[in-house]
Amino acid sequence: MELTPEDVLEAQKLLTGRVIRTPLLPSAFLSRKLGTPFHLKMETMQPTGAFKLRGATNASLNLPDGTHTVTCCSTGNHGRAVAYAARQLGLKAVICMSSLVPQAKIDGIRAHGADIRIVGTSQDDALAECRRLTSQPGFAEISPFDDPHVISGQGTIGLEILDDAPEIETLLVPLSGGGLAAGVALAAKAIKPGIQVIGLTMDRGAAMKASIDAGTPVEVPEVVSLADSLGGGIGLDNKLSFNICRDLLDDIILVGEEEIYQAMQLLYFEEAIVAEGACVVGIAGCLAGKLPGLKGPVATIITGRNVDMNQFTRVVTGKDIRLGDYHLKRSSYVA
Ligand SMILES: *Cc1c(COP(=O)(O)O)cnc(C)c1O
Repeated sequence: MELTPEDVLEAQKLLTGRVIRTPLLPSAFLSRKLGTPFHLKMETMQPTGAFKLRGATNASLNLPDGTHTVTCCSTGNHGRAVAYAARQLGLKAVICMSSLVPQAKIDGIRAHGADIRIVGTSQDDALAECRRLTSQPGFAEISPFDDPHVISGQGTIGLEILDDAPEIETLLVPLSGGGLAAGVALAAKAIKPGIQVIGLTMDRGAAMKASIDAGTPVEVPEVVSLADSLGGGIGLDNKLSFNICRDLLDDIILVGEEEIYQAMQLLYFEEAIVAEGACVVGIAGCLAGKLPGLKGPVATIITGRNVDMNQFTRVVTGKDIRLGDYHLKRSSYVA
């Protein structure tokens, strides 16, 4: 399977009018602090609160003939996106999850009109049910990151950023399964071959980084993180996003929970943006001095706003946070 920049242009045509063309906002504070123009691509403004609507919509528009129901087993931003895209396009959506998924996440997905199927007590049980459904005629599963139409849908973010600010020299992209980074790198490097595209993720459970280091997809233990949308593996049978990220990303930078905590506070107090921990890894990496040769102007993608409001409030008011067996100590915001 080969993906080309033309696939991203195709996706852009299909997505026009179906997802929001989000603004690219200059951050006066970060530009001053980092000494180079710094821009924020506001994917928090998508109706489902995250960029994943682009890939899910593009995939839903490219289904095999006769498909009436889409499925997935994501309980996060991808699940919401699949539910919303299906409703927009007159398809049914069945989102499979285990009985351990918190009620708030179930409600978030149900609000977008999907059927919820609760099976077993693990993600594997949910995945097995999803696979069983998908083996029936008329059903199709949409992967959160390892699907050509998902990757090209996410890549439209790269087109929009360079359309609005062709002078950008570095893109800082939050990285998990790599659908976003693969699509953005593919699009941006086709337009501007010299642009730097850097993936950033948390240092605990960085599956793409471990896989690229190992030369093949590997599993890493999953831990609780402030950047919960960056958790999960890349799939041992990864077909696309691994190769593209390995070939096109200039670097992968890891940031710690304290760094994510502080960057969430900064974005809230300086820019009044409510964003998930996953969004601030680019800002966190810069502030921590982990991008020494950083070439500006810079843009990062503020990927989603579906925070746990209780936890978010604790972060911005500088309270202690418990993440599984990891204990984040209180720290108030200082500019
Ligand atoms: C899914 C997600 C990411 C990471 O995207 P991948 O394509 O899995 O690398 C980043 N931020 C948010 C908010 C997400 O939901």
